[in-house]
Amino acid sequence: MSVELARYTTLGTGGPARDFAQPSSLAELEEVLARDEPVAVVGLGSNLLVADDGVDALVLRLQGELAAIETTELTLRAGGGAANAVALHRARTAGLGGFEFACAIPGTIGGGVWMNGGAYGSDFAGVLERALVATADGTGWLTPAELGLSYRHSDLKHGQVVLSAELRLHRRDAAEIKDDVRGLNARRKAAQPTNRRTFGSVFKNPDHELTAGRMLEACGLKGHRIGGAQISPKHANFIENAGGARTVDAIALMAEARRRASEQFGVELRHEVEFLGELELPSLG
Ligand SMILES: Cc1cc2nc3c(=O)[nH]c(=O)nc-3n(C[C@H](O)[C@H](O)[C@H](O)COP(=O)(O)OP(=O)(O)OC[C@H]3O[C@@H](n4cnc5c(N)ncnc54)[C@H](O)[C@@H]3O)c2cc1C
Repeated sequence: MSVELARYTTLGTGGPARDFAQPSSLAELEEVLARDEPVAVVGLGSNLLVADDGVDALVLRLQGELAAIETTELTLRAGGGAANAVALHRARTAGLGGFEFACAIPGTIGGGVWMNGGAYGSDFAGVLERALVATADGTGWLTPAELGLSYRHSDLKHGQVVLSAELRLHRRDAAEIKDDVRGLNARRKAAQPTNRRTFGSVFKNPDHELTAGRMLEACGLKGHRIGGAQISPKHANFIENAGGARTVDAIALMAEARRRASEQFGVELRHEVEFLGELELPSLG
């Protein structure tokens, strides 16, 4: 089945997948992995730029049992396809704290492990006990060290599917969790374009006194538009779909942003957003 991936990315861009499947059990997943095709998973597409001419791979979205969530006294176990928002809600109702930071991350548990998603000083690496990862050759549990988690990074490669993750949390009053989340959401809303189609932070923060956003703001890039994509007038480390954007527009904006940051600050910005398909930024050389 061929599917336009634009409908599965928060930016709303991206061409077709060569093949597409939505397994809802381990047996179904094993069946599609046995097809021996290159595989890539999409979660909620909230950190994803997909090439306009598509992806030459079998693209998977996990659902059903592979998005199920259960809690015990101190742990939350969630399928790779579970939305962070749902996992956080389940943690709160079970009186489990420690996952509040994820209210800022509109992705799945699998995407969070892959990206080592984080916010407000916490990240997946800080709560992850282990993750169950499947490949065409079998399935096994990996610890955070084995996953190679660091700032917005894991060593996972396409073809490895995060089936499930076990988070080590702590007992916390549900009302306190709710209050914290409300406060974090308010901070987020004040600083970021939460009501626009974006893919979150474009670049990782460089090793510099300025964050990527402040640096691009100082370069005068807020509101800069190419085609249907524009650098957010609210936060310069976000690219918005301002109407009819294509991935190529976002790539052109990223190339311009990198060129300006390099010229003005001597900094080589590295992208946080993941690329799927044949996508590349021009080198700064
Ligand atoms: C408004 C907004 C705010 C954001 N704020 C933050 C923030 O504060 N902190 C932060 O860290 N991120 C933030 N993000 C980025 C994004 O939400 C995270 O990176 C998130 O973890 C991506 O999850 P996803 O399920 O959407 O993954 P996708 O974007 O669908 O995929 C990202 C990568 O993960 C891989 N992947 C996804 N699921 C699996 C799986 N089950 N198995 C194997 N690989 C998988 C994909 O192949 C891809 O390489 C923000 C995004 C938006 C739109």
